[in-house]
Amino acid sequence: MTEWNGKQPDLQELVRQMTLDEKVAQLIQLAVPFYEGAKDEGLITGPMASLGIDETTVRDSGSVLGMAGAQEVINVQRTHLANNRHGIPLLMMADIVHGFKTIFPVPLAIGCSWDLGLAERSAEIAAKEASVSGVHVTYAPMVDLVRDPRWGRVMEATGEDPYLNSEFARAFVRGFQGDDLSADTDRVAACVKHFAAYGAAEAGRDYNTVDLSDRQMREFYLPAYKVALDEGCEMVMTSFNTVDGIPATGNAKLMRKLLREEWGFDGILISDWGAVKELIAHGIAADEREAALKAMKAGVDIEMMTSCYVKHLSELVEKKEIEESLIDEAVLRILTLKKKLGLFDNPYRAADPEREREVVFCDEHRRVSRELAVKSCVLLKNEGVLPLDKKRKIALIGPFATSEDVLGPWSWTGSKEDAIKLADGMRSKLSDAAELTVADGCGIKTASEEQMQAAVAAAREADTVVLALGEHSDMSGEAGCRADIRLPEVQLELVGRIRALGKPMVVVLFNGRPLDLHGVYDEADAILEAWFPGSEAGGAVADLLFGDANPSGRLTMSFPYSVGQVPVYYNAYNTGRPQGAPDAQVRYVSQYLDIPNEPLLPFGFGLSYGDFEYDNARLSSEEMTSDSALSVSVTITNKGAVPAEETVQLYVRDLSGEVVRPVKELKAFRKVTLQPGESRDIEFTLEESQLRYYHSDLTHSSDAGAFIAYIGPNSRTNSALPFRLIK
Ligand code: BGC
Repeated sequence: MTEWNGKQPDLQELVRQMTLDEKVAQLIQLAVPFYEGAKDEGLITGPMASLGIDETTVRDSGSVLGMAGAQEVINVQRTHLANNRHGIPLLMMADIVHGFKTIFPVPLAIGCSWDLGLAERSAEIAAKEASVSGVHVTYAPMVDLVRDPRWGRVMEATGEDPYLNSEFARAFVRGFQGDDLSADTDRVAACVKHFAAYGAAEAGRDYNTVDLSDRQMREFYLPAYKVALDEGCEMVMTSFNTVDGIPATGNAKLMRKLLREEWGFDGILISDWGAVKELIAHGIAADEREAALKAMKAGVDIEMMTSCYVKHLSELVEKKEIEESLIDEAVLRILTLKKKLGLFDNPYRAADPEREREVVFCDEHRRVSRELAVKSCVLLKNEGVLPLDKKRKIALIGPFATSEDVLGPWSWTGSKEDAIKLADGMRSKLSDAAELTVADGCGIKTASEEQMQAAVAAAREADTVVLALGEHSDMSGEAGCRADIRLPEVQLELVGRIRALGKPMVVVLFNGRPLDLHGVYDEADAILEAWFPGSEAGGAVADLLFGDANPSGRLTMSFPYSVGQVPVYYNAYNTGRPQGAPDAQVRYVSQYLDIPNEPLLPFGFGLSYGDFEYDNARLSSEEMTSDSALSVSVTITNKGAVPAEETVQLYVRDLSGEVVRPVKELKAFRKVTLQPGESRDIEFTLEESQLRYYHSDLTHSSDAGAFIAYIGPNSRTNSALPFRLIK
């Protein structure tokens, strides 16, 4: 083993000293079980036979997937270094998606906060907790644009808008990485995923085909990855899906041409789990050898969890089917990140069992989690029943009343037992805890008649009923797709039975996707969408229910009227026909015969306990030029009785594009808090550069001509302000 002892390796020289097999071993990434023995500083004893590899490969491998815990990481690194003849430390990579021990709301919920500062802070905290626990790289953020709520992974995205997603991508990367990874060891490197367009899987079924025009890709799906990389994101992960017929993991056009040549990305590109070998199942490689050849040629540096590279790359180089320089480049990128993270100085980096105990799940981190959870919940409906009156008797009913399943998918490092349950959060607000009765009524998918009857009896005794309903966390996340996105049948039955009592009924939803709210929306007097709020779930939701905090979340993904509409999203194109409104003059209208065209609840929508009035929307001029920006303003007034936060949104429509333009596109937003009775002028600057888009020849520019600006509380706003761009 080489001791670097403060010396910085010359990485080019180091690559030269490595044998071909040693270099190729850097390109495999194995998950924790392969390092099982090394955890107690023993021998490497993992399940090598399952991948057809040997101990030498594990000994010389470059990175580990899914290991966290300071002492464990220190032990594995120590064993590794004792066996690796060049003293090249392992990179520890893991999915730290929305928190480490302190779990934050799921990313879709964070998106609904529209709070970039808090999003960044959540990533910073996640990085700190992960880093002291030995993690160097997180597989986040996932910036895939999402339009289909059947897809289970919409909970990992921030929604359907490319501009908002880009802003969140920037905030997350900044939060994870900070300004300087080598100086600030409380940060981790970020790996943006899944490149590309993983969120556009046909029919909302995970891993399914994606086939989009280059224009659609550039306009909607690619911007957030680009912004993440411009922010300095160190790594990119490929996606499982095909893009224009070629699986992303074997897609040279995507990776070599777009990512490397056009965007100049020189960081590490890693395959998703098993995706190199999956080139065989896709049908573009006959065997593992060809899969290795195609993935390496296309640009994948690290193969996650399959062994095509280690089994075949050396031979492919020897037979001159692949140039060794490609392998060298990949190894150099990996070593460069190790050096940047300071691992040659201190291979244990921030891993420190003592500090780990102090830092993870500390009070300050939990406070931020609660604040973000409060801001992430979206009040979908309120017919005067919220906030709850602390003096009245409340029955809290439903499977989420006492459930610990509030962290959501991708919270493997968190602890469910430490999460605040809704019943506990609510009870802590009441001077007389007996005023709250609790009954589950049913499970997520099953119920007994006794359970239902006990719930109905509890409801009968109460003044107000709070129903805590939703999806189990396994019903979203990876491979958690659903064709029917209503609440499970038993929960709808519970809603019906309680509704029949005629009591005021509030529904709180815990779930990972926009739902089809049939059987709930009309029945409930109020609905609070809580998503999976994280460690502080119960406290945050109770704050909102009792009015100790005011709901301010706004949807970043449309709630469909019915699953038959999906994908349904606000930034769609018009047809040439009237849309959804039968017209005596036109027989063939773009409509459904049985449901509306519009989603039930649009992008940008959310209520609060305030009551905002928008007035005097205005433009500084009706003409814009390339060097004279417009100002778009509105006066908003809080007509309600409590301080409230509003998210003022600016949209634009281009009426004479070279190609068809979306009916609305978000261009800017501002969050403002107003006291009761307070008015404020909100002003946005709109510039020519914000009107640019990808033309049919893929150039990015604006068109002279007619536009409309809209300013309002959500994407349904109709306060149209026409203007012209003069060129
Ligand atoms: C997921 C990735 C994740 C990886 C490693 C894959 O199945 O698609 O998002 O980062 O596993 O856990």
